[in-house]
Amino acid sequence: MLLTHRSVIASHKKMSFWERLYLPAILGGLRITLKHFFLKKVTIRYPEVKRLFAPVYRGLHVLKRDDNGAERCTACGLCAVACPAEAITMDAAERKPGEEGLYREEKYAAKYEINMLRCIFCGLCEEACPKEAIFLTDRLVPAQYNRPDFIFGKDKLVEPPDARVDISDRQNLGETRC
Ligand code: SF4
Ligand code: SF4
Repeated sequence: MLLTHRSVIASHKKMSFWERLYLPAILGGLRITLKHFFLKKVTIRYPEVKRLFAPVYRGLHVLKRDDNGAERCTACGLCAVACPAEAITMDAAERKPGEEGLYREEKYAAKYEINMLRCIFCGLCEEACPKEAIFLTDRLVPAQYNRPDFIFGKDKLVEPPDARVDISDRQNLGETRC
């Protein structure tokens, strides 16, 4: 049964004198190469030049802090339950007295990990979160050489207090969709 109509029946006819010279074929190839010198380039000089992403692009996650700098996540596990790829794992812990500035809720995620090799960037974790703690951003997941390096823990997911990740555009998008 034919799966496509692209198959070609091989021909065993003898090559002509010109075909045996290969020069016409080489010149034909050079003509195609030369033509591409004058066409609009489809490549860009990444990473110096970056293409604009669609506003709905879903990239690397961020675990947000509140206005006072405390982690918003309360380790409820709803994001992990919603994740179709089972990419999220976490360990919950009780907040101790004096840690109110670190964690907004009485329970917090002592460990929070996302396996970026499993993640399909569907955004369901973001939708499921009742605390507006996790968002997908327009940042790329950096390339790694080893599989364990794709397990992103809190050190890579929680936004640094002095370098907050702006997700206001994504929140506005959500409001527009509603
Ligand atoms: S984006 Fe989707 S696949 Fe990735 S961690 Fe969130 S819910 Fe799971
Ligand atoms: S990120 Fe949100 S849904 Fe996931 S455990 Fe934290 S508070 Fe719950």
